[in-house]
Amino acid sequence: MKRRLQAILPAVLAAVLLIAGAGGLARLAEPREAAEAEPEEANPRMFDDTGHVPIGEKAAHAETLDGPAGSRSVTGTEDIALTFDDGPNPAWTAEVLDILAYYGVRATFCVIGSNAAEHPDLVKRMADEGHTLCNHSWDHDFELGWRPPERIREDLERTNEAIRAAAGEDTPIEYFRQPGGRWTETVVAAAEDLGMDSLHWTVEASDWSSGTGSGAIRDAVVQKAVPGSIVLLHDGGGDQSATVEALGPVLDGLWERERSLAAF
Ligand SMILES: [Zn+2]
Repeated sequence: MKRRLQAILPAVLAAVLLIAGAGGLARLAEPREAAEAEPEEANPRMFDDTGHVPIGEKAAHAETLDGPAGSRSVTGTEDIALTFDDGPNPAWTAEVLDILAYYGVRATFCVIGSNAAEHPDLVKRMADEGHTLCNHSWDHDFELGWRPPERIREDLERTNEAIRAAAGEDTPIEYFRQPGGRWTETVVAAAEDLGMDSLHWTVEASDWSSGTGSGAIRDAVVQKAVPGSIVLLHDGGGDQSATVEALGPVLDGLWERERSLAAF
């Protein structure tokens, strides 16, 4: 009898251990599976609510770098402003907005009026997600600055109406950007009459050219942007796939350099 028990005991013990072990494994596996099922992980390079990371530099040139014809080419603070021109465009704008949201960064969108009228949902999304809206003329008129003042005013008003029809009547539009940066004092004055500051830039990455790859765009922005810079990029006007591809690496690079970002 005793001998029989001794023979059985190890077998019983082994069975108990096996069951307990299996239960333990199952318990361990549960949370791991849950974590893997989590759809999105937090971005380790998330900028804070206002797009800031701690910085050590001040904008050395904020007061000295005026733009052409009385326009502005720096933010006047330590913040860098990313600006996106020539949208909204259904091919690129939503992706740009997604990436900015992932990094917690707000930017400025200089929209073309006729594009805003065509894609109001994208303009509304810009406003809803806290980005700044900027008037970039009704149909990207390079010569706008040389037209009669009343014609300029009509163009800018029509564009603001399209932006507000899309994003809401109370949407602030504090900035105007002349297509091609072809500023004249007439166009700056017309914008000012409508309550808009004229917004030039200090850093551009030639992302409007199809020959510029995403690596070159990234390098240009990350290397040239200093506190106070206004950076010109595009979410419309051509094939902007390189801009979309570069945007994450640009934000990684600026984060690593402890740059601070804000919508202008
Ligand atoms: Zn443009």
